[in-house]
Amino acid sequence: MTETAYETVPAVEPAAPEARLGTIVMKFGGTSVADPEKIRRVAARMVAAREAGARVVGVVSAMGQHTDELVALAHAVSPRPKPRELDMLISVGERISCALVAMAISDLGRDAISLTGSQAGIVTDTAHGKAKIVDIRAKRIHEALDEDRIVLVAGFQGVSTAYEVTTLGRGGSDMTAVALAAAVGADACEIYTDVDGVFTADPRLVPRAQKLHAVSYEEMLEMAASGARVLQLRSVEFARNHDVRLHVRSTFTDEDGTWVREEDERMLEKAMISGVTHTVEEAVYEVRGAAPAELFGALADAGVNVDTVIQIGPELVFSAPLEDRHDAGDALGRLGAAWEERSELGKVSVVGAGMRSHPGIAARAFATLTELGIEPRFVSTSPIKIAFYVPRDDVERAVTALHETFELSRPEAERQHA
Ligand code: ADP
Ligand code: ASP
Ligand code: MG
Repeated sequence: MTETAYETVPAVEPAAPEARLGTIVMKFGGTSVADPEKIRRVAARMVAAREAGARVVGVVSAMGQHTDELVALAHAVSPRPKPRELDMLISVGERISCALVAMAISDLGRDAISLTGSQAGIVTDTAHGKAKIVDIRAKRIHEALDEDRIVLVAGFQGVSTAYEVTTLGRGGSDMTAVALAAAVGADACEIYTDVDGVFTADPRLVPRAQKLHAVSYEEMLEMAASGARVLQLRSVEFARNHDVRLHVRSTFTDEDGTWVREEDERMLEKAMISGVTHTVEEAVYEVRGAAPAELFGALADAGVNVDTVIQIGPELVFSAPLEDRHDAGDALGRLGAAWEERSELGKVSVVGAGMRSHPGIAARAFATLTELGIEPRFVSTSPIKIAFYVPRDDVERAVTALHETFELSRPEAERQHA
């Protein structure tokens, strides 16, 4: 009889459990994935995060200006493309970039899978071009993460409750990232972009602008609503409502960026004004002879995102994004009221949570504009914002001067307080 001799298994230490950093969502904007080299760098960054122990959900925007090019292409073919077809077309940009990033990740030896918004379970309402997310069925994402894959989701898109492809409005990949972060319970949502964070003014316009270390959701909402396009407005709203901590940072460095989170004491102490923002992408409408309820009802039905509203005697003034111009014109035409579009105006806003407890901000801002010989056409305020509608040609001068008035070029404006 033979006896099988078993070799004893040497006692080994159990494998060290992989450091678990939880799940992170990493979103990269258009400039960050603009060419093949950049795509490979983004892939490497996601792989590094995976290797450090995190489960990684990547969201990417269309490469460079691809969305603009697709929109222009549509308009070259048709003067007013049907919203459904436009969404079919422009959702393609993000599918391209996320497939490419997934390929580059595989080349680095990590498993990756790219998903369209629809495959990722992002369900929206039926408002083409500015759809709202109504549900995220993240089962497929969780399964892929459990299989140790990096999951790439095409930003800016979903599938509607009527089974159509929809897009989430310009800058909508931010929305995809924040919504996914909430849905998968991510530790943080990292928004990688072509600047180092959120600045006291658009750093492309004001070179002396300082990076802010932290801003509250409220401040970021006001900044996004008044033109700081570094984060899409809706994504900030969603982040606030679902407690998603955002970290806006540079794709090209490892430096810490800007945290967007709940307000804390130190934010208020450090600065009364956190930024000066501007936009020239809004149209202002002056309307006479319309009942406000009827007017705003008609605009809402047409899906126009009304921002500022001012009533001056019988005249109603409101602003809305330039991209809603056709819909606004149609709605106003149907009402039969007298109206005029003022497209020569831009908006400059001063934003800061500390404004609530520091009187005199308006006085200083008006004095600055008077010194420049700029007379604001309309002014609107919220508890933490004053917005001035000024001639478009004066926007740059106004931003620079207000930035100086409130001493935002000083390094202390950063309010470092980790
Ligand atoms: P991405 O393609 O990464 O989504 P965006 O172009 O949407 O990038 O947003 C980043 C841009 O936002 C920056 O290049 C910058 O010019 C602009 N911007 C405007 N205001 C601000 C601000 N206050 N802080 C930082 N960036 C700003
Ligand atoms: N590509 C889309 C846009 O240009 C979405 C995004 O970049 O966030 O608006
Ligand atoms: Mg963006």
